[in-house]
Amino acid sequence: MVKRKKTAAKKKVDRKTTSKKKATRKQDPKSKQCARCLKRKPLDSFGKNPRMKLGRKSYCRDCSSELQREWNEEQREAQKPKRKRR
Ligand SMILES: [Zn+2]
Repeated sequence: MVKRKKTAAKKKVDRKTTSKKKATRKQDPKSKQCARCLKRKPLDSFGKNPRMKLGRKSYCRDCSSELQREWNEEQREAQKPKRKRR
């Protein structure tokens, strides 16, 4: 007679929940706050600047264009009284 050992197969299915839920909603990485008008705008609204962390300028396009204009005017004004010697 052959006695068959019945090994009760105890299968413990340990389901490791690997899916970590990141509930911490910090900032939307696709948007950025303009340092000038302080409005939150999508990254596309910022000019590219590889030197910056996010690769974007700290000013939105509207502000940067305005700043650029102001800067240009300033430069023009600054160059007026000074005569460039050639
Ligand atoms: Zn702005």
